[in-house]
Amino acid sequence: MRSNPSDYEMVAPGNLNSIVSLLASEPGVWLPIAGGTDVMVQYAAGKLPARKLVSIWNLPELRRIDVTASEIRIGAGCTYTELRKHEVVAREFPLLHSAARWTGGIANQNRGTIGGNIVNASPAADSLPALLVYDAELILVSVRGEHRLPYAGFHTGYKKTLLAPDELIQAVCLPRRFPGYFSHARKVGARNSQAISKVCIAALGRLTDGVVEDIRIALGSVAPVPLRLTETERTARGNVIDSDLLLLARKAAIAEIRPIDDIRSTARYRAAVAGNLVAEFLKLLSSQRTMRNDAGVNAILTQWNRLPIDEAVHEILPCCGSKAWGRGMVAKRPFESEAALLAASDETWRDLTKSDWMEAFDSHPRIGESRSSLPLSPAQSVEWSAQEQRNVGEAEAAVKKALANENREYERRFNRIFIVCATGKSAQEILEILRSRLDNDSDTELHEAAEQQRQITQIRLKKWLQG
Ligand SMILES: Cc1cc2nc3c(=O)[nH]c(=O)nc-3n(C[C@H](O)[C@H](O)[C@H](O)COP(=O)(O)OP(=O)(O)OC[C@H]3O[C@@H](n4cnc5c(N)ncnc54)[C@H](O)[C@@H]3O)c2cc1C
Repeated sequence: MRSNPSDYEMVAPGNLNSIVSLLASEPGVWLPIAGGTDVMVQYAAGKLPARKLVSIWNLPELRRIDVTASEIRIGAGCTYTELRKHEVVAREFPLLHSAARWTGGIANQNRGTIGGNIVNASPAADSLPALLVYDAELILVSVRGEHRLPYAGFHTGYKKTLLAPDELIQAVCLPRRFPGYFSHARKVGARNSQAISKVCIAALGRLTDGVVEDIRIALGSVAPVPLRLTETERTARGNVIDSDLLLLARKAAIAEIRPIDDIRSTARYRAAVAGNLVAEFLKLLSSQRTMRNDAGVNAILTQWNRLPIDEAVHEILPCCGSKAWGRGMVAKRPFESEAALLAASDETWRDLTKSDWMEAFDSHPRIGESRSSLPLSPAQSVEWSAQEQRNVGEAEAAVKKALANENREYERRFNRIFIVCATGKSAQEILEILRSRLDNDSDTELHEAAEQQRQITQIRLKKWLQG
């Protein structure tokens, strides 16, 4: 830590009026802090210029999501977790939903807010391209009152915004006029989660009789600000998507962006990826003519059905842990319903080899522990394991100790960790199951563990579809 806490003052008035009055009393002196996921990084690095912080975390006025017939109004203090879990966001604004799912890890999603992402003004911010294509508007508030302005144009340069020093973003409004559009989001980075984008895309499109009737494309990490590709859109609008158009659109996109070299990537690589992402989106859009109607299909499943292969494997992997299972599931796409997905999971799991099963077993922590032996278990898998084992965490010390001893005995006998579908079971029940399975011969026990993993995967798939 390169900052000294005693150099800083922090207040938390707890209501919007007092906060905007404080901001107005000394404009530019008080820095709002919401989830703190950007501010605290600057603080820890000794690079936070402000010395006075005012907390806006958990303010009721900034934490609501209101849905009217014409728009959804998302409080700027809403977290990514809240966005991920909101039914209307998931159904009607899948680009924002995807961005919320792959911003940081679970802890980050519980703290990071949409308002913070906008004001932090990083050109690599994941949610901002979605706001551009959805024609978002911002509501700003200060002692002078509220005013509403289009989000496009809010970022005026690298890390620069139109926000006055005495203003807060109160809400982000999205018009509900994009049902029926094909949507596509993709983040190219070292990983999907826990990694800043090298390039990301959010795009919407609609065809009429095979002709591009409307198209909206935005990219992140290719210019000082998140960029709407208006020239590329113009190139595509009114045309049939064929190889000539793909070439023209790719060129138009590369001409529109202004990427730079930095620690994450080079300008050349970013330009090539940007062209590829635009061409990929157009190809997917053109394939919509031949795809079934997605109406009524779970929004997450619809998105996942269309993801490129590697990304689709990565997304579904935490449900099971075996890469062969993930690849098998991706090969069986598209799925039209949860029931079809669950049935395919059982079939895929049954056909795997013993070493694939072992890979899935190894992705779990021991009962009573929070981390698997794998150093890079996906954050989603870690969170689900914690939920599944909730009762064990709350058990008496003697039961926990007995579980630890019997776990060791199991590993000595079978040479792998004990797998049980722990959801809804008490620690005492799990202990009894563990003791009884110690009597199994190795083949019976392997199949019992595989059956338990099958059940875990089914539960996780259902949670995954809920977002
Ligand atoms: C480990 C880690 C991983 C991350 N991964 C990603 C990622 O994958 N993608 C991504 O886009 N970002 C990522 N981030 C960045 C960060 O989490 C997001 O930008 C987040 O949305 C910031 O929100 P916050 O509430 O934490 O902002 P804060 O840190 O509280 O504030 C950030 C800035 O916004 C201002 N601010 C906040 N709310 C308001 C408001 N309502 N009105 C006016 N000003 C306001 C603050 O004054 C400050 O200047 C990551 C950060 C960390 C630490």
